[in-house]
Amino acid sequence: LLRIEKVNKAFGANHVLRDVSLDVHPGQVQCIIGPSGSGKSTLLRCVNLLEVPDSGHVYLDGEPMGHRWKGDSLYEMTSAQLAAQRRQMGMVFQGFHLFPHRRVIENVTEGPIVVNGLDRGTAREQAMELLSKVGLAEKAEAFPESLSGGQQQRVAIARSLAMRPKLMLFDEPTSALDPELVGDVLDVMRDLAEEGMTMVVVTHEMGFARDVADHVVFMDGGCLVEAGTPERIFGAPEHERTRSFLARVL
Ligand code: ATP
Ligand code: MG
Repeated sequence: LLRIEKVNKAFGANHVLRDVSLDVHPGQVQCIIGPSGSGKSTLLRCVNLLEVPDSGHVYLDGEPMGHRWKGDSLYEMTSAQLAAQRRQMGMVFQGFHLFPHRRVIENVTEGPIVVNGLDRGTAREQAMELLSKVGLAEKAEAFPESLSGGQQQRVAIARSLAMRPKLMLFDEPTSALDPELVGDVLDVMRDLAEEGMTMVVVTHEMGFARDVADHVVFMDGGCLVEAGTPERIFGAPEHERTRSFLARVL
């Protein structure tokens, strides 16, 4: 579903991603772990072209991100085409970025109505279903500021899902939350995984990675050091760098 092929990215002299390749299959949950500054966020941002890789390619469903085939030649997409391609992926960040002046339900219906042209009634129906799924149906008419961080993050997840993405990208979705709020958000993500959503999750939550991931990817210094099942990465890491990282965080 998602193929990352030899992606390189530098900011000035800082070579942040070095030949990173990764395949994500439909229904898989891949967790990306690694020390601060190892390039995890940059990799996710390269996937949806929030950052443009210096070299390498990203394919979504076989389609090169940002480019379109015409005959045998690849052309750069227009910004509208790129926006449409990006919408096939949901992205949830550390911060929640909800629209502060809109009620919870409006945050969830906005995209489907404005971008997908869904009618209000259907959009509200779907939004209520999604809000129930994240456990927040009773907060539909509330404003974001009256919610806890964990609740806001669950609204952000519902809002992403409302666009019916093929895959969800998460960048440390729980790291800005008070510890007691983390569990509810992880539970929602766990449910999503069980329903078969394809997910790439950058996380410091090793318990989540161990329980939910099909595949754990360890990054350090811009390199994909090793990847494998959680049993193997946590139980029998091959690389010294992985071992020393895990010794620090577990
Ligand atoms: P963390 O766990 O702290 O979130 P990370 O693994 O997500 O770290 P990145 O945010 O990808 O790491 O950053 C990797 C490196 O790239 C860092 O050295 C960072 O300073 C640098 N970097 C990231 N974004 C930019 C940018 N827009 N301009 C310049 N340098 C950047
Ligand atoms: Mg990061």
